[in-house]
Amino acid sequence: MKAVLFYAPGDIRYEEVPRPQAGPGEVVVQVKAALTCGTDLKTYKRGHPVMIQRAPTVFGHELSGVIAEIGPGVEGFAVGQRVVAANSAPCNRCFYCRQGRLSLCENLEFLNGAYAEYIAVPARIVEQNLLPIPDELPFRHAALVEPFACIVHGIERSKIALGDTVCVIGQGPIGLMFTRLARLKGARVIAVDRVPFRLEKARHFGAEEVVNAAEVADAVEAVRELTSEGRGVDVAIEAVGLPETWEQAIAMTRRGGRVNLFGGCKAGTHIRVDTGRLHYDELEIIGVFHHTPLYVRTALSLIAGGQLDADALITHEMPLERLEEALNLVASGEALKVAIVP
Ligand SMILES: [Zn+2]
Ligand SMILES: [Zn+2]
Repeated sequence: MKAVLFYAPGDIRYEEVPRPQAGPGEVVVQVKAALTCGTDLKTYKRGHPVMIQRAPTVFGHELSGVIAEIGPGVEGFAVGQRVVAANSAPCNRCFYCRQGRLSLCENLEFLNGAYAEYIAVPARIVEQNLLPIPDELPFRHAALVEPFACIVHGIERSKIALGDTVCVIGQGPIGLMFTRLARLKGARVIAVDRVPFRLEKARHFGAEEVVNAAEVADAVEAVRELTSEGRGVDVAIEAVGLPETWEQAIAMTRRGGRVNLFGGCKAGTHIRVDTGRLHYDELEIIGVFHHTPLYVRTALSLIAGGQLDADALITHEMPLERLEEALNLVASGEALKVAIVP
């Protein structure tokens, strides 16, 4: 089969590799759509300490397709069935799993290799996070389940109340999905970004106000001015992944408000927090990572129910051999997500 392999940062190759076989408990899926993701872009540019442990290796993790082969002992699936797989599954045995904190599982098993014609889904993911998709749901829409599940998780932990004012900093695919779900939760959304094209998308996804951080002197002040009495937002969600915007998210939040620092920053970076604000203003600052099997199911039902305009997020479609071009298009900011069709 054909696949794109990661050799080293900046070096990926479209090659012929052996087609994976379905071992016990496994399912081989013929990939029909694989979506580009910020994580893949990082891998391509810099490598990835967790996802990429050796090279050359296959990569890519947002996929949907058709079951091509079923391993011994697999029940409940059939060859030819349309499915979506999440990119991990928890062990259900470690300390954190037993606490119900499945996204913190110490032994999360990851799935990589969506940029290929076929992918073998490991037994643990087959059991917990391989889901049939409705016949009328396009493959590329279904492939959004994994990233969207992370956002569903992020929104649930943000505890948005009806009528809240919520600021979402960053309007890339992740920020746009937050904007949409915050709106669905009944919030008035203020969207912040530096790219006009993304702010237009933010309006499409339900933002009532947009702030172009590149055009205002102080983005925090600009957001505060859009809140009642300049009090600050009820909930701020950071979807950029920079210490600077983490600090902005905290600074724009009202007393007693909640800050969701969702965007992952570079390892080893730090932020400064005013201790007075944390103490006297009773700020709640949380971090949210990844998804759980429950959120994967919620994400699929929202997408299948038409609650997310997938085509507004997936701006381009390309064949597998043009993956490098697709990743560069995402890096340039011209594309939000590219659907790779093997
Ligand atoms: Zn992803
Ligand atoms: Zn675990």
